[in-house]
Amino acid sequence: MVHKIALVGIGKIAVDQHIPAITNNPDFELSATVSRHASIDGVESYTSLDDMLEKRPDIGIVSLAIPPQPRFDYAVKALRAGRHVMLEKPPGQSLAECYALEKMAQEKGVSLFATWHSRFADSIPAAKDWLKSRTIKRFRITWKEDVRRWHPGQEWIWEPGGLGVFDPGINALSIMTEILPYDVHINAAKLEFPSNRDTPIAAHLAFTNPDNAVMDAVFDWRQEGPQTWDIDIETDQGEMKMSSGGAKLSIDGKSIVEGSDHEYANLYAQMHTLVQNRASDVDLSPMIHVCDAYALGKRITIAEFEF
Ligand code: NAP
Repeated sequence: MVHKIALVGIGKIAVDQHIPAITNNPDFELSATVSRHASIDGVESYTSLDDMLEKRPDIGIVSLAIPPQPRFDYAVKALRAGRHVMLEKPPGQSLAECYALEKMAQEKGVSLFATWHSRFADSIPAAKDWLKSRTIKRFRITWKEDVRRWHPGQEWIWEPGGLGVFDPGINALSIMTEILPYDVHINAAKLEFPSNRDTPIAAHLAFTNPDNAVMDAVFDWRQEGPQTWDIDIETDQGEMKMSSGGAKLSIDGKSIVEGSDHEYANLYAQMHTLVQNRASDVDLSPMIHVCDAYALGKRITIAEFEF
């Protein structure tokens, strides 16, 4: 069965990833878009979600590719209308919002998918498998990128609920929570806030873990030149390096996975499976770490930052 889907928010990630992933998947038909300013040639477009939900009862799935701040209200409308919902990451701007959506989907008997695209990177299964039988001694996430390059003009990332540097950092946390064989929690955090912004531009997080390994994460949005999305892990039986956001993996210096970009194709394949089974997939563990970082973080105010 081909599922009719509406894509909400025709911005950067919709154009870069969602539209190609949907149109290349024979299980889906991109039947409508909802966007206040944009549309796609050949696809019916709406400027209001209410309007789309009323006029297109045949569209069973709504995929939300808008920023986190407005996402809850959009998701509630779609769920109330009995549609399956796919959420871009992060799944909301607060944990309570996400729990409320999960409950609502359950009550309505529809699928809710809180997506974590980085978990669908090529090296994740191999990394998870390798770590299963090892003791970790050192685990370091280094996620350093240039906000001016990746988020040009996106003011929402600096506004409350926009997560700041945790917008990319939560991708690393989604990988960490997927590949580690146990749960960890933050014991200390340091967050750097530009004096003119409401969200952090850099963060350092330290984690308590059962191996007593030195485990931390460094996020920074001020990196010019080469960009870094690495996880380096030292164990009792060798060293593993994940790079390019989880696309590549090497063990003891030997390349094991040289992946390419299938993350969004895999996300939509998973959504198809969830809808077929009337199941949901809502893992909030990466979001819990972000909320704990805000709760435990020492706040450091630094110089103003302009795009
Ligand atoms: P974006 O381009 O700034 O925004 C996406 C679209 O959302 C906009 O074009 C806008 O469309 C709509 N929108 C913005 N503010 C809104 C509001 N207050 N109410 C309703 N609609 C609003 O953002 P993006 O980069 O695509 O990111 C969207 C989500 O995808 C974020 O959660 C982000 O973390 C995630 N994501 C982004 C990337 C990336 O590389 N950019 C990668 C992975 C995941 P209209 O104004 O036309 O309605």
